[in-house]
This record gives sequence, structure tokens and C-alpha cells, in this order.
Amino acid sequence: MRLKSFLFCLGLTFFIHVQLQAQNIARPKLVVGLMVYQMRWDYLYRYYERYGENGFKRLMREGFNCQNTLIPYAQTLTAAGHASVYTGSVPAINGIVGNEWYDRSLKRSVYCVEDPTVKTIGGGPAALPMSPKNLWTTTVTDELRLATNFRSKVIGIAIKDRGGILPAGHSANAAYWYESTSGNWVTSTYYLNELPNWVKAFNNAKVVDSLYKLDWNTLYPVETYVQSDADDKPYEGKFSYEPKPAFPHKLALLAGKNYGLISATPHGNTLTLQFAKSALVNEQLGSDDITDFLAISLSSPDYVGHQYGPNSVEIEDVYLRLDKDLADFFGFLDAKVGKGNYTFFITADHAVAHNNSFMEERKLPGKTLPYAETPAEVETDKHFGVKGLVETFENFQFYLNRRAIDSAKLDFSAVKKYLINELNKMPEILLAFDTEDISGATLPGEFREMYIKGYNAKLGGDIQIMLKPAYFYGGKTGTTHGTPYPYDSHIPLVFMGWGVKPGNLYRQVFMTDIAPTIAALLHIQMPSGTVGKVITEVIKD
Ligand SMILES: [Zn+2]
Repeated sequence: MRLKSFLFCLGLTFFIHVQLQAQNIARPKLVVGLMVYQMRWDYLYRYYERYGENGFKRLMREGFNCQNTLIPYAQTLTAAGHASVYTGSVPAINGIVGNEWYDRSLKRSVYCVEDPTVKTIGGGPAALPMSPKNLWTTTVTDELRLATNFRSKVIGIAIKDRGGILPAGHSANAAYWYESTSGNWVTSTYYLNELPNWVKAFNNAKVVDSLYKLDWNTLYPVETYVQSDADDKPYEGKFSYEPKPAFPHKLALLAGKNYGLISATPHGNTLTLQFAKSALVNEQLGSDDITDFLAISLSSPDYVGHQYGPNSVEIEDVYLRLDKDLADFFGFLDAKVGKGNYTFFITADHAVAHNNSFMEERKLPGKTLPYAETPAEVETDKHFGVKGLVETFENFQFYLNRRAIDSAKLDFSAVKKYLINELNKMPEILLAFDTEDISGATLPGEFREMYIKGYNAKLGGDIQIMLKPAYFYGGKTGTTHGTPYPYDSHIPLVFMGWGVKPGNLYRQVFMTDIAPTIAALLHIQMPSGTVGKVITEVIKD
């Protein structure tokens, strides 16, 4: 009798234990991914002394800081970065080889998230239709939806369409982006048939106009920006209506007239985070035990960086203001979801080069080249007696004109070999090589690997060029990104909150490790094209 009741109790205990375990897979209520466009890793430290206690410093104090996070493929561009972070994969596998790429059958450039089969909801008449259909693999956000039988909510938000769409994946509840002609947050019929009422209300409030009325002055007296170059330099780009590229930037006059320009100011970040807060409240993200995912991307630092360069007072001010916005956003998450109930990570889609006139002034190497037909192409056409042997040049790859080569009865390999040889004579080109044999390129293995990961056999060109470090194609002002070098490929990565052990890691990790690490934290399957590895040091046991 005693034994029987003991066994019964044991059985009951076991049953309860199994039940509890089944009900409680340890997961946070919410994951928030924040991608800051064009954020260099060194911005965490460059302006450290001017950050407050609750923004970037809180992240570094309470979070796990992966100090050496690199992009593992060559073309450090926005769409490729957003796709890579959320797929744990690379352009060779996930199909997002750039912001656009050349489609040989269509004979035109294809935009990364274009989709003529859908419609934009809520934008002006010129709003282009968008969806994630060009992304070939699942995202970590898709995998969360799959793991919970689509009970988790996933929402993607960014000013730029690609920054909202690609992180949210294929099965998101919605992705929203900012449409510059209407000044509205919009979505696609891919996700919804109508804008939710809260989005309509947000749009009707025209928050953009109230932000414009603040103008853009420096947060602190301009002479305190000692980490930046002088405010008015000839190699900074300027707003078309302003006489010079210097503070104060008058924005109030744009209210009700020009909805696009907010993207190129720090108020674009504030606008995006306000919209994200509204999404969290109205969609009840993180309000129950089924993990939700809010994927936010801040596009404005990229606009400002391209225009003024990373050494400008403008960029310093963008990060000092973002620090305040972050502190506010963490306070909001603590209040709404609860400190310790959400997992947060911050990273970037790519970093950026210094402006080359700035480099030259300080005797540092680098050069900006005009984007034009190369002497190598001219010489190749002349040698074979055929005009236009190169069809196009995109993402540092030449696409040869197969029709012109065939109709002139030329040997494809001979044309390719000749052009490669001519390109290699150009002083700015470190190496031109055949994309059919990247592993045979005479390059250090680290770089060869980046070109292999970045080359997509279905979408890529015939010849790859690698410019010398700090060389890029561009105009006289501002700067850009897109090369495999560390100034473009070294990005910040800090995790914070639920499941994350505070600390620092100095070994090399990659952008592609983020998705499998989040997947491991959540106990869900990693995305379908994952090449990255779990950063085990991040995870609290
Ligand atoms: Zn950019």
C-alpha cells in the first residue's frame, strides 16, 4: 500500500515535471533586432565619452560585446547585410548579392525587393511594389514563426523598404517602410490587404512635420565636437537648398512640403523608433509567453554618412542623438515588456570608408575614382573590333555581352582573358580575376573566401575586380562602402537582455553567426541557408 502510493506520487511528480517542461521552453517574450545602417564598430568608442549611461554605455555594460565581428563576403552593401544578418547566410546562397543586380534575361538591373505582382498599401502613386520574393532562404524570423506554428508575431520596420522587408522574412505579419512622397509608413499586399488602424492614425498625425519643426542644430555647442573634422569642409555634400554643408540645418521650412529629406537627418531615427513603439503597443508584441520578434533598421545614418562622411560633426551628432533615442527606447522596453523579458541585439549592415579628400589632407592613402568606362574596356573593344563587349558593371563585376561575342563569332574565354589582362594593368585595380575560378585567384585566403561567399553562380558577372584599399568609385563629396576591407566590413555586434551573459569577446566572429546564435537562444531551427556558427560565449547557461 505504502509502496503503491509512493509509486503513484513518483508518477504524479514525473507527470507534473514533464507537463511543466512542455509548457515552459525557456524563451524571452520578445526579441528586438536593431540594425544601424552604416554603423562602424569604432563609433562605439570614438564618441564613448560623450554617451550617456543608458544608451550605448548600457548596452556595453549589461550586454555581450562581440568586438571583432566581420562581414564574411566581399560586397558590403545594405541589402546583402540585412539578408545576411537574418539568414545567417551569404549572397552565394541567399541570392541577395547587392541592392540591385543585373538580370541577363531581363537585360536590366533588378532591385533586391522589387515584386511587380504585389501593390504598395498607403503610399503615393509612384510607390513601387515590394516583397521578399528575391530572398532564396528562410530568416531567423521565419524560423521563429515555423517553430511556434505561426503563433509568434514578426514585424519589420525601416525607413528604406529593403531594411524592413528582408529582416522580417517571408512569413512576417508585416513589414513597414517609409514612403517619401506621401510621408506615410506603408506596407505591401504581400502581407496585408489594408493598413491597420494604428498605422493610419500614426500617418495622420504627421509626426514628420513636428520633427522638422525642431530643425537640426548640434545637440551641444559645435566647438565641443573635438572628435570630428571642422563643420564646413568642401568635401562634404550639402542639402540642395542650403548654401553650405554646415550647421544649423534649417528643416522647419520643409514641413508639409518635402517628406523625403527627414531620412537624411537624425530625426529619421527618432521617427522610426516612435513608429516601432507604436507597433509594439498596438500589435501587443511581447505581451504573452509566445516569443515575438521586432526587427528594426535605422536607415538615416547611411544617408548622413554618404553625404558628410564619418569624420563630420553631422555624424558625431547623429550618434549622440541616437544614444539618447536608444536610452529612451530601452526605458520603453523595460516598462512595456519588462527588463529581463526581452533579448536585444544591435549590429550594422556594413560600415563605411573615410572621405578620401580628408585622407589626402592627412597624408593617408586612398583615392576616389569617377564611375566611368575603364581604358581596359575601350582597349578590349578596339582589339576585337566590336563595340560594347561589356554589357554592364555592377557590384564590382563585369558582365560580358554574350550576344555581341556570339554574333561576332569571338571566343568567349579569349575576350574574358584579354579584358582581365587589361584590367590588371590599371593602377587602382589590385586584382581582376575570373569568377569561374575564384579559388584560383592569387589573393590571401581571407579575401578569396569573401569573394567566394559573395559570388552567386546564377546572378553574378564574369569578371571580379578588387580595388586597392581605400579606393572607391564615387563623387567629389561624401563617401561610400562596398569593399571587403575592414573599414567597410568591421561592424558592431552587442547582445543584451534575456539569455545573454554580460561580457566581451575579442576573437573573430561573423555577421552570419548572429542568426544561428539567436536560433540557439530561442531553441528554434536555424535558417535554411545558414553558414554561420553559434557564438556560444553569448549564451547564459
Ligand atoms: Zn550606403
